[in-house]
Amino acid sequence: MGDRYCLSDVTSFPRMQVMFRLSSTSRIRTTGRGSFRCPYCADQRAYEHKKTERWLAFYSIPLFPTTTLGERIECGSCRRAYPVALIGRATDQRNRRQEIGTVVQWRCAMIAVACAFGPPKQCQAEAIGSGMVRHWRQRADVGEIMADCRGVPTSGMALEEVLGRLGNLPQSLRPSDKEHFLQSAREVVRAGEGGEKQQRDLLDAIAARLGISEDGMRRALAA
Ligand SMILES: [Zn+2]
Repeated sequence: MGDRYCLSDVTSFPRMQVMFRLSSTSRIRTTGRGSFRCPYCADQRAYEHKKTERWLAFYSIPLFPTTTLGERIECGSCRRAYPVALIGRATDQRNRRQEIGTVVQWRCAMIAVACAFGPPKQCQAEAIGSGMVRHWRQRADVGEIMADCRGVPTSGMALEEVLGRLGNLPQSLRPSDKEHFLQSAREVVRAGEGGEKQQRDLLDAIAARLGISEDGMRRALAA
């Protein structure tokens, strides 16, 4: 009788010890901070992103999280809790608004580029349109682009004005977007008037205004 229990007790004893030492515990942890528009405060407020997690603990010392049991964001002012989707939505909307502004600016700047050496040709408007589809997946109406170019003097738009139409693109475009802008600008310029040197000088000036590095410029114009 004794022998039968003896073997299993001896082998399971250390494992039992570990099992008793390991336990799970739940903890609430702040995993992020930011600002959002709190529906209750009806204003921009700081928030804390809190997660309730199950942690593996050794004795009572938490080791690491094993499962997320729930999460919420908490307004720093009224302390009310909201679903995390609320900040996701707000950020998405803000990004979307910013992107729309950037696309409008891009189109306006590209039209100025097309007008640099005189009223643009239809094929330049088409180059603007295809660049926008490629980069922003947005169709640009060629007829509308041509209509927006009305009144451009036959001598073309002054360089300073063309560069001025870049507006805040130097700040709002990411480095890779800037290179795409330069590529698209080159297509637009090449489809129009102006000698090779004039065209090259214009692209150099655009690259300088956008703050494109030498490397970036080589990449953009080699593509
Ligand atoms: Zn609040």
